Amino acid sequence: MIHVRGLTRFYGPIYALRGVDLDVEAGESVTILGPNGAGKTTLLRILATLLNPSSGEAQIDGKDLSTSSYDIRARLGFASHRSLIYDNLTVEENLIFYGKLYRVPGLAARTEDLLRTVGLLSRRRSRAGTLSRGMLQRLSLARAIVHKPDLMLLDEPYAGLDQESAEMLEVLLDAVRGEARTVVMTTHNLERGLGRSDRMVILTKGRVVFEAPSSSLTLQQLRESYWEHCRQDSGAEEVPS
Ligand code: ATP
Repeated sequence: MIHVRGLTRFYGPIYALRGVDLDVEAGESVTILGPNGAGKTTLLRILATLLNPSSGEAQIDGKDLSTSSYDIRARLGFASHRSLIYDNLTVEENLIFYGKLYRVPGLAARTEDLLRTVGLLSRRRSRAGTLSRGMLQRLSLARAIVHKPDLMLLDEPYAGLDQESAEMLEVLLDAVRGEARTVVMTTHNLERGLGRSDRMVILTKGRVVFEAPSSSLTLQQLRESYWEHCRQDSGAEEVPS
């Protein structure tokens, strides 16, 4: 489903991605780990067609991200802390706005259902700008899946969630896996990532430095691999002049 080759992105003198190759099969769940500044968000934003790469190739189902962004956006859901939520709209209006954009059938029922799932039904008429960080994260998740996308891109979905909300997210991710939808998620939580994915990828300094099927790893082995690759300052580097 996802085919990425030699993906590079720099911001001025900073390399965020340095030649990333990544393939994700339809129905696969992949977790991307890596220290702060490793390039995880940049990679997800490029896949979500919100950011252009500096060079390299990125396709979803054979369609080039730079030329087919509308078609691709209709098939994917992206949730992040930079949440694509309109603060001045209510919780419910945010979902309805995106649902209409993607012509979701039975939108009123779908919205209510999703708000119940993410525990925001009682806040449906609150302006999004008044939500707590964790609530906003839950709304961002609901927004990302309102149109039942084939591909979910989740940037640190556990960040800011309390224990109950994290469990809600796990139930939701299990359901998505059961429906054989594709998920690419970033997280700093090795245990949750390992438990909810088919494959683990570690990104360091904008490069994929480790990849393995989750079933081949214990949590301890994953921790050891993580520390082996990420012990030192592993953030982005400046483009050599
Ligand atoms: P974290 O775990 O802290 O969220 P990350 O792995 O998601 O980090 P990115 O946000 O992709 O990392 O950032 C990769 C590098 O690109 C960092 O050095 C960051 O400072 C830089 N960067 C990201 N966005 C911008 C921007 N808009 N302008 C300049 N530099 C940026």
